Amino acid sequence: MKKLQWNPWHGCHKCSPGCLNCYVYYLDKMRDKDANIVTKSKTNFNLPLKKDKNGNYKIKSGSELATCFTSDFFLEEADEWRKEVWEIIKKRSDVQFLIPTKRIERFNKCIPEDWNDGYENVTIALTCENQKKTDERIPLFLNAKIKHRYIFASPILEDIDFSKYLVSNKIELISVGGESYENARICDFEWIKHIKETCDTYNVLFNFHQTGSNFRMNNKIYKINHSLEYKQAKKGMKILKKIMKEKEKIKNE
Ligand code: SF4
Repeated sequence: MKKLQWNPWHGCHKCSPGCLNCYVYYLDKMRDKDANIVTKSKTNFNLPLKKDKNGNYKIKSGSELATCFTSDFFLEEADEWRKEVWEIIKKRSDVQFLIPTKRIERFNKCIPEDWNDGYENVTIALTCENQKKTDERIPLFLNAKIKHRYIFASPILEDIDFSKYLVSNKIELISVGGESYENARICDFEWIKHIKETCDTYNVLFNFHQTGSNFRMNNKIYKINHSLEYKQAKKGMKILKKIMKEKEKIKNE
């Protein structure tokens, strides 16, 4: 599946410990922009409906569109724009829209009238950075009418126990990542390992998508260049698979 990004609006407000070193703020500051100002995209608001010169959609059927990764989809300022975006999402039922949010408490106020049990082509990814926010947000997330649920434990700030929420069978994937750029807080491999074990226990898909800029493994802290964070996380995934395989072998002996 081809992965692309669509940001119908840009900018956000910090609302949670995970927002402290938000990458949107960091990158906007480098461009002399204020990420606290939320603006509707002038050029890409209707990206999924754009066509090429042959009349075909530029976003191909079967693509996954990472939606609103430089804002929060459920932000108050976007209330007036979201209705049109839902229409676009409905029209492109052949594209999967992946929407991350920390504002799950606004979800029920923001869904369209014909939402029913959720659109099949919408995945909501709840962001949980620590145990407190996990325990506040996941009960709302599990009660909301959503067809596909992911959890982004990112930027992970401490070990998190997800076990009691995975029993529900409603969460398809947990993807974990560390914090990037200046003043990034540490991401510890032991936390990643624990979450992977929990996912394996409950048959939930797991991914470790990025190490963060300060990655701790075996009590040693590694400074990771941002361009290598994804590659290093892939190596981490291989190590995790090996550890789990060995554990399984010992269990069966
Ligand atoms: S909710 Fe996300 S985009 Fe908004 S400030 Fe927090 S980390 Fe940044």
